[in-house]
Amino acid sequence: MSAENEYEVCVVCHKELDIKKETPISEREFYIEGAGQVCIDCYIKLLSEKSSLNDY
Ligand SMILES: [Zn+2]
Repeated sequence: MSAENEYEVCVVCHKELDIKKETPISEREFYIEGAGQVCIDCYIKLLSEKSSLNDY
C-alpha cells in the first residue's frame, strides 16, 4: 500500500493541504461545492472575487 496522494490538493493552485482524502466533506474547511477542495488563500480569493462582483 502506498501513502502517496493521501492528502487533498487545492483545485486552484494544486498545493498539498493538511486535509486527508478520507475526511468527510462535512468536516472540511474551505470546501466549495461544485468546485472541490481549495486552500485558505484561494478560498479567500474566491470569496473576495464573489463579493466584489456583488458590489459592482
Ligand atoms: Zn490554492
